[in-house]
Amino acid sequence: MNLPDENSPALEPTVSELTPLLEQLDFSLISQLNADPQATAEGQDHRSREVKSGHFVPVAPTPIAAPEYVSHSRGLFQELGLKDDLAHDAQFRRIFSGDLSAAPAPFRSTGWATGYALSIFGTEYTQQCPFRTGNGYGDGRALSIAEVVHEGKRWELQLKGGGPTPYCRGGDGRAVLRSSVREFLAQEFMHALGVPTSRSLSLYASTEEHVMRPWYTPGSKSFQPDVMKPHRVAISTRVASSFLRVGQLELFARRARSNAHPQAQQELKMIVAHAIEREYAAIDRARPFGEQVLELARRFRARLTALVANWIRVGYCQGNFNSDNCAVGGFTLDYGPFGFCESFDPWFQPWTGGGQHFSFLNQPGAAEANFHMLCTALSPLLDDAQQGELAEIRDGFVKEMERTLKEMWAAKLGLHRFDADLFSTLIPLMQRSRVDYTLFFRALCDLPEKTDRLERTFEIEATGDVKEQWQAWLDQWNALVRDGERDREALAAGMKRVNPRYTWREWLVAPAYERAEAGDYARVRELQSLFLSPYTDQETELATESDQKRPARFSGLGGVSHYSCSS
Ligand code: AMP
Ligand code: MG
Repeated sequence: MNLPDENSPALEPTVSELTPLLEQLDFSLISQLNADPQATAEGQDHRSREVKSGHFVPVAPTPIAAPEYVSHSRGLFQELGLKDDLAHDAQFRRIFSGDLSAAPAPFRSTGWATGYALSIFGTEYTQQCPFRTGNGYGDGRALSIAEVVHEGKRWELQLKGGGPTPYCRGGDGRAVLRSSVREFLAQEFMHALGVPTSRSLSLYASTEEHVMRPWYTPGSKSFQPDVMKPHRVAISTRVASSFLRVGQLELFARRARSNAHPQAQQELKMIVAHAIEREYAAIDRARPFGEQVLELARRFRARLTALVANWIRVGYCQGNFNSDNCAVGGFTLDYGPFGFCESFDPWFQPWTGGGQHFSFLNQPGAAEANFHMLCTALSPLLDDAQQGELAEIRDGFVKEMERTLKEMWAAKLGLHRFDADLFSTLIPLMQRSRVDYTLFFRALCDLPEKTDRLERTFEIEATGDVKEQWQAWLDQWNALVRDGERDREALAAGMKRVNPRYTWREWLVAPAYERAEAGDYARVRELQSLFLSPYTDQETELATESDQKRPARFSGLGGVSHYSCSS
């Protein structure tokens, strides 16, 4: 196939290149659920307004000007049965940078935006909605444009940054290249780490269009951004089994609870049934609906606890784990002010607006709050006896979370069984020496007997008592590992499958998006390649650079050690 020049004018539709995609398109959400009765068919609906009922609003995306290819996910293209060079096809680029006028049928001329409610750590909010009713909050700049069914699996394709929707709250509907690069890379990385996540399909950046965002001046140690800066805009397409969020079910439950309109209870039932079909298809839909709902709660609990254990395993901090950033499908969604723990701190939280409640080791608590909100949203669909069962499922969260976490820590430490004593000595020591989270656990995979191998991963040198405590801990760990009577090579190999070799280092990602801003995407692609094999030794210069603790000059640096949500 001839690759068209990235910057050539749009080609006439070459439907043949797109055919494999077109043949798989489907639209279950908009065909099964209700459109906002006040919406227009053409989707020219780009101003903040109250959306009082319905599950979605048809909205035409606003294309970004002069889009240029940045990257795409080879892995996901393959999973969707798409040829790799389609990402360079001019028509594909137009569609996935927001120009649906270039999209042949069965694509439609509009995408759809959905509303959702917001709870922060289990407390319902409407303050973020401009109308104080909750009816103006939702996908402000995210628009799904189609679903794809490939080999029996359904995926939803969602543009991020495709212009304002009725939920924009006065925002410009754009996403900047910086945050788009971060989300694009993070999704690739998390998938490769084996953590359930929304996926990256493609990323195109405008060569002409800019928006202003608060950010940090180079070298600034300011806590909050200290400058307004123009940023290039971009559209990334993220893909998931659905984009249904806990907060979304909450919106319909709140309306049902307050009898907001005559169809409120019915619309709640419809969206929950849709969530079961999209995310929990193994639930037998011939069963009475209340039983299906209880099963949804049970299965979501299992997925959410496993997800959070995985986050902690790989050092991921979501940063803003509100109910609207919590996918009903139990995978990672919405990479905004997230970060990966480098120098260990249980309270690690890179987002300046986040606070301790969403910090690294507090994520099980944040997840419990979101789980509680899901149960609250499901409750109007149940009879009295089922309410009791739901309460039991909800109360069982803590136990299930604890069990899942213990299994994860045991695996991370190469043990058959979690050892509370070993673990409770380790965490304060890790904190005291400020170990590099990834390097430390990977060093442990070499099964050291003396602490010097571990000490290289410490930010604060261990001397005197602390050094002795480390040796005592390591002796205790070695004894437990030996008690397991395991083949040492198999043990090391097993540990290396759960403890990644490389992690996300913001001080390497920031220069990559800065170079991308200047039109040079090489570093973004190198990082993508590094992140695709996070458990394997790699020979590249970037891999070597990444194989070290954060250099001191980056500590406290705005945009690297902490950042605002401005994206
Ligand atoms: P987030 O904190 O990224 O999850 O965003 C919170 C809400 O604000 C989401 O519903 C977004 O759709 C919306 N939002 C964020 N940035 C913009 C923007 N530039 N324009 C419109 N809506 C936005
Ligand atoms: Mg969000």
